[in-house]
Amino acid sequence: MKGYLHSMESLGLVDGPGTRTIFFLQGCPLRCAYCHNPDSLKRAGGREIRPEEIVTIAGRYRKYYGEEGGITFSGGEPLLQGAFVHASLELLKLEGYNTCLDTSGLGSPKYYSKILPLVDTLLLDVKAFSRESFLKLTTVDGFDSYLRFLNDLEYHGFRGQIWARHVMVPGYTDNERAMQDLVDILKPVRQRVDRIEVLPYHTAGVKKYREMGIPYRLEGVEPMDKDRAKELEIYANKRFAESLRQDRKAEEKKNQERSKLLKDREVASAQEKGEMYSTLRSLPLLNDVEEEDVDEVLSQVLLSKIKAGEYIFRTGDSPDFMYLIYEGEMKISFNSIDGEEQIFYIYRDGDFVGGLNLLVQEPYRYVGQALTDCKVVAIPKVTFDKYFFNSTVVLRSVLVKSFERIRWAEELIRRLSTSNASMKTAGLLIKLVNRIGKTTDEGIRLELSMNREELGNYSGLRRETITRKLGEFRELGYIELVGNKVIIIKDLEALESYVL
Ligand code: SF4
Repeated sequence: MKGYLHSMESLGLVDGPGTRTIFFLQGCPLRCAYCHNPDSLKRAGGREIRPEEIVTIAGRYRKYYGEEGGITFSGGEPLLQGAFVHASLELLKLEGYNTCLDTSGLGSPKYYSKILPLVDTLLLDVKAFSRESFLKLTTVDGFDSYLRFLNDLEYHGFRGQIWARHVMVPGYTDNERAMQDLVDILKPVRQRVDRIEVLPYHTAGVKKYREMGIPYRLEGVEPMDKDRAKELEIYANKRFAESLRQDRKAEEKKNQERSKLLKDREVASAQEKGEMYSTLRSLPLLNDVEEEDVDEVLSQVLLSKIKAGEYIFRTGDSPDFMYLIYEGEMKISFNSIDGEEQIFYIYRDGDFVGGLNLLVQEPYRYVGQALTDCKVVAIPKVTFDKYFFNSTVVLRSVLVKSFERIRWAEELIRRLSTSNASMKTAGLLIKLVNRIGKTTDEGIRLELSMNREELGNYSGLRRETITRKLGEFRELGYIELVGNKVIIIKDLEALESYVL
């Protein structure tokens, strides 16, 4: 395992918190007009270096790092050397170093999930705020990839802080409007942003271009006035703080609306409530709650009737409830950037969702929407923390559920990657047989809560395709269709032969 090093700074003060050793790696996919290291852009070249050597060098300067400092990987683009950076970060973390990655977000995506959990501070380069300006500045049509990187940081396991950095070139982004764009683009990662830095454009690199015989695209542009850049940096940080305040307000409002929906939908009839309480008393969920506390717990939970189509939670909702589906069906889905819905799970009576979110305090990533009229038991966070947090029954159930979901997700990936529509449709039907199939004299009866479009979203097919495939299976005698909501499986073996 080796990496390619362009240069190194033993003790630097500006590339991350505290005093740090900075490794500038060779290679970058971008060609920024202001790049002052054009000699670092080619992937080939640079000095070969091994991860073990990085750790040895870090050891040499460790005494200067203090509490905050450590190691920074910069470039070029360090994410281009994903395997090397990953191996180095692993070794550094074993030795307890603070780590920092300086990136423009365009590297080898297959390493993102390995690298990002090991990074304490991300120096996130924000080059431009639109596709056109990104292309103009970098000569690469990479804005969409950059936005994906930004959106998926949490998904890839990044849990550190972000220092967002923007190089300001006179005549390009040296105005308040651009600073607002800068704040807006950071929206998906706002909670992780510790500061915004504006770096004034300078012309120190021009000489290198002349020496290398490369045309300099910002020829004639004066260096950015440092005072004006500072002024705009302060402005951007103020706007950012304001956006955080607005986020918090919006979040509070959303939480209030969610609590209100649950309260507005509370089961009203005393008899119905009594029945629900007595079922809840018999659930293993309450096994570890002291007998004298059970009434208290039941008085704190909300028993709500949610209508088909209503949302129980949405992406980004804070983890302030865990939900138990008492009766009915709920779908858990996600809307892609292109607006396409992908259904991950269908939850039914006795399933619960949100336990892990409460345990690790992570917002909901997906959308929970009632497929049928549902009865839902919402357990507030305060109740969960007081009575369930240390319950082995609950922790075990959360673990089992998480494991089930991993298996489910693996199965989904397998199903989505199977190559043709027959396999996907057959796989979906078999899945439904296992979950809701009822053996009858006519065959295995599936009573669906999903319409054709949702069936498609659950199986990775378009509505027209799933409708066509079901028609074909019917003609082949594998299934019978009764209206839109009932399918009777006539020949399970034939369906299984598509997928097993
Ligand atoms: S991302 Fe950095 S190294 Fe790459 S071209 Fe731009 S300024 Fe140069």
